[in-house]
Amino acid sequence: MSNPTISANGLRKSYGDKVVLDGIDLHIPAGTVFALLGPNGAGKTTAVKILSTLVTADAGDLHVDGHNLATDPQAVRAAIGVTGQFSAVDGLITGEENMLLMADLHHLSKQEGRRVAAELLERFDLTDAASRPASTYSGGMKRRLDIAMTLVGNPRIIFLDEPTTGLDPRSRHTMWSIIRTLVTDGVTVFLTTQYLEEADELADRIAVLNNGKIAAEGTADELKRIVPGGHIRLRFTDPAAYRSAATTLNEATGDDDTLALQIPSDGTQRNLRSILDRLDTTGIEADELTVHTPDLDDVFFALTAPAPIPDQPKETTR
Ligand code: ADP
Repeated sequence: MSNPTISANGLRKSYGDKVVLDGIDLHIPAGTVFALLGPNGAGKTTAVKILSTLVTADAGDLHVDGHNLATDPQAVRAAIGVTGQFSAVDGLITGEENMLLMADLHHLSKQEGRRVAAELLERFDLTDAASRPASTYSGGMKRRLDIAMTLVGNPRIIFLDEPTTGLDPRSRHTMWSIIRTLVTDGVTVFLTTQYLEEADELADRIAVLNNGKIAAEGTADELKRIVPGGHIRLRFTDPAAYRSAATTLNEATGDDDTLALQIPSDGTQRNLRSILDRLDTTGIEADELTVHTPDLDDVFFALTAPAPIPDQPKETTR
């Protein structure tokens, strides 16, 4: 992987006796969305806090935007933006005042600060609400203001810690489209989420954090392939063809009523080809073929199950 924007090797963190991160490795290329997925208490926020310099790691070789977190945290801070579950928005002042405060913190001139604030408020559909105290904003508006404030410093890397937790479906979709726009603009996004759908929608790569370790990492499709349950389904209209196929593919389970066969499959091209080749040699043609991969829910529950899963593959297919 060329020149990752965020890289962690052997990242460790414990609180007292509790090992939160037990030596994890992460490599996130520039301009991509990475989702760290895990159940409550898995250590997602801890990972974000460490990589965004808010908390120090116990061990690990950590780089963000080419800067070493241990020796050059200031340079890392200058390159990143962070919006956490605990928003930086001050409810007592207006949306615009919150923005101008950020502009001051970034040492923008008064004029430049006003320009940037107005532009971002407009972009996040907050212009009409700009002169109202932020405490009157809805949850979705507060999150939008929070991201707008993060963007004042024009960061190339953004950490979003559970950006849509607690939002209604419409606000969640708005947030997703904001995140997609950021990526189109070339920003690298590191997000944490408990929502499988969110990781599936947004992330180029997903890592599942469980018991302090990365239980699996890959694209949504790669992750879906590593849990059992994937299969190919063949449907026939001719009962004779159905019976011949059932004999040829002896690992298949059949449904005599619907003339459908289900063959366990990892969904790879190689596996699909071998099944089709076997059918071809006997001259059987199915009327319908569908490939079923497990969804991300299956993966999540399999990987974050309390008891170890027998025969669980250690690596994803690449
Ligand atoms: P997540 O974001 O995945 O819900 P966290 O990173 O917030 O998980 O927490 C992981 C674990 O670390 C939890 O068991 C939590 O109680 C513990 N933890 C987090 N921060 C601290 C802290 N400052 N002191 C002690 N324990 C902490």
